[in-house]
Amino acid sequence: KQFDIGIDLKNLASCFRHTPEDLTATFAAGMLFSEAQEKLKESGQWIPLNPPENGTSTVGGIISANRFGLRRHRHGTARDWVIATTVVNGEGKIVKAGANVVKNVSGYDMNKLYIGARGTLGILLDISFKLAPIPEKRITFRACFSTPEEALGMSNQINNSPVEVEALTVVKGRWTAAKAKHWWVLIELMGTEQSLADQSTVLSSILEKSSANRWGEASKEDTQFYWKTTQFGNNEASPPFAEATISIPKSKVEQLVYNFSVGEPDCSLKILPASGSVILELTEGSDRSTFIDQVSEMGGTVEIIGSGVSSVEDRWP
Ligand SMILES: Cc1cc2nc3c(=O)[nH]c(=O)nc-3n(C[C@H](O)[C@H](O)[C@H](O)COP(=O)(O)OP(=O)(O)OC[C@H]3O[C@@H](n4cnc5c(N)ncnc54)[C@H](O)[C@@H]3O)c2cc1C
Repeated sequence: KQFDIGIDLKNLASCFRHTPEDLTATFAAGMLFSEAQEKLKESGQWIPLNPPENGTSTVGGIISANRFGLRRHRHGTARDWVIATTVVNGEGKIVKAGANVVKNVSGYDMNKLYIGARGTLGILLDISFKLAPIPEKRITFRACFSTPEEALGMSNQINNSPVEVEALTVVKGRWTAAKAKHWWVLIELMGTEQSLADQSTVLSSILEKSSANRWGEASKEDTQFYWKTTQFGNNEASPPFAEATISIPKSKVEQLVYNFSVGEPDCSLKILPASGSVILELTEGSDRSTFIDQVSEMGGTVEIIGSGVSSVEDRWP
C-alpha cells in the first residue's frame, strides 16, 4: 500500500449523539459504519447510504472516499446527508463546519470539501448526518433483457412511472449470476404493505408489456442473492483486477454503455442510469486510454481503483 502518513483512528469510535425527533445523529469518524447503522436501527432510522463494504469500513472512511451504493438512485450521495463535520486541519487546529440542523443556509458549506477528499484536507473527528426513516417494507423485482438498449429503455420507463423506486440498477457479467447471458434490471420498491401491493401491480403491468425474457417479484432468498451478487460479484468471478467508476451526464449513459458492450462484448458493467454512474470492470488487457478518451469526450470523469493504480494520475486519469 502506498501512503505518506498512517494514522490509526480505531480508538476514535465512542462519540454518538442521536436526536431521533430531529432525524439527526453525530458519529465519531472511527466508528464502524455498520455499527453506526445498527445503533440507528433501534429507532427505525438510518443514514441513507448503502455502499458495498465488508463490515470493516469506518464512518470517516466511507465519507472521505465518498462511497455510495445502489440506493443512490433515490437517496443520492453523502453530499446530500452530511450536515456537520469536526476536522483537525493541517495546522493542527480543530475546525467545525455546518450545524446539527436539517436546514442550514448561512455561509459556505465547507462540509462538502471533506466528502471524497481522502484525508488530504484534514482528519475528520466526527460527522453529523441527516437521517431517514427505514421504510416499512421493501420488495425486489428482476427483469432480464438480451440487449443494453432494452434494459436501459425499461429503466427509463420505470423512472417515469409512479412507482417509488429506492434502487434501480442494470448489470451484466460478474455482477449477475455466474454464466448468465442477460442484462439484469434490478428494481427495489419501498413503502407500506398497501402501497407496495399497488406499486407491484403498476410495475408488473409495465414489465408484462416489455421485451423481458424473464421477469418477476423476487422471493426472499432470491432478493438476498441478487443484491449480494450485484454488490460483490458472483461466486465464480475472481476479484476484479481493477474497476473504473464513471460519472457521466445521464443523457450519455446509453451511448457509453453501447460503445463498451460493442467494443468488449464480455465486459462487466454496473449502471445506475438515474445517477449517470457506470462501473466498468477492467481486465489486465483493457485499453484504458481509449475508454478514458471516450468518457472525457462525453463530458464525464473516471476514478480507477485496483491493480496498476499507484499515483494520483492513475487513479483520476
Ligand atoms: C465491494 C467493495 C467495493 C469497493 N469499492 C470501492 C471504491 O469504488 N472506491 C473506494 O475508494 N473504495 C472501495 N472499497 C473499499 C472501502 O469500502 C472504502 O474505501 C472505505 O472507504 C474504506 O473505509 P475505511 O474506514 O477502511 O477507510 P480507509 O481505507 O482507511 O481510508 C479510505 C480513505 O479515507 C481516508 N480517511 C479514512 N478515515 C478518515 C478520517 N477520519 N478523516 C479523513 N480521512 C479519512 C483515508 O485517508 C483514505 O484516503 C470497496 C470495498 C468493497 C468491499
